[in-house]
Amino acid sequence: MDVANSVITKPYQNGISSLKAENIKWKSEKKSESLPRPIAVCGPSGSGKSTLLKRLLEEYRDYIEFSISHTTRKPRPNELDGKDYHFVTRKEIEEAIKNDEFLEHAEFSGNVYGTSKNAVKQIQNNGKLCILDVEMIGVKNLRKTNLNPKFIFVKTPSIEVLEQRLRNRNTESEESLQKRLARAREELVYGETPGNFDLIVVNDDLDEAYRQLKEFLRHDIEALKKQKMH
Ligand code: ADP
Ligand code: 5GP
Repeated sequence: MDVANSVITKPYQNGISSLKAENIKWKSEKKSESLPRPIAVCGPSGSGKSTLLKRLLEEYRDYIEFSISHTTRKPRPNELDGKDYHFVTRKEIEEAIKNDEFLEHAEFSGNVYGTSKNAVKQIQNNGKLCILDVEMIGVKNLRKTNLNPKFIFVKTPSIEVLEQRLRNRNTESEESLQKRLARAREELVYGETPGNFDLIVVNDDLDEAYRQLKEFLRHDIEALKKQKMH
């Protein structure tokens, strides 16, 4: 099932997606028919999602692509617009959501985050496995779409380790850190509820966590490699 193709009937004329996702080629849709199911990665802020995904995307850049979300959050010093996120104003994202340009969106720690339909569609057009990084509300909302992703939950061995990693990352104000920890407690309950996730990765030792992630994706990556050879 190709959700982006099924929900989008024509290229965007207006709004964020047309501004940010320039020069989309509306290629044959054949490629995406045989693509593996997208992967939605969720987990408390600071659990290591970006670290794991960065490694995965570097190793499998020919087969896997990251769905670049939109956010109203300000960029961190090392973040690039159009690479880590599309950084937008609240007015811009609200307008685009009203225009039905988003697959899902959510408020998180005082900001809006969302996945545009175009972000997913572009990746499917490229014939690659689409990976999304979404918080808990996003996961719940994705379940209501026909994207049909597999869901992975990433967590730390304890909430204390999570707090320490967030502090060491040195990206949050004390207020933002407390909001993220409060949300983490809710996400952990949801993440640990049986049936909510296809894989739970405890990110204690990074290499071991990465190995588990890769093992979960092994069949999909092999299938994509075979497709590329033919
Ligand atoms: P998220 O994307 O889930 O918010 P990050 O990937 O930014 O989390 O990781 C949070 C912090 O923890 C970063 O500073 C990162 O370098 C560090 N980190 C990630 N995984 C590990 C690990 N296994 N052991 C120690 N530190 C880690
Ligand atoms: P951060 O500000 O740390 O980059 O991200 C905060 C939270 O927003 C993380 O839990 C991350 O998974 C989530 N997030 C990032 N992009 C999206 C998105 O497009 N949709 C939703 N629902 N959550 C997102």
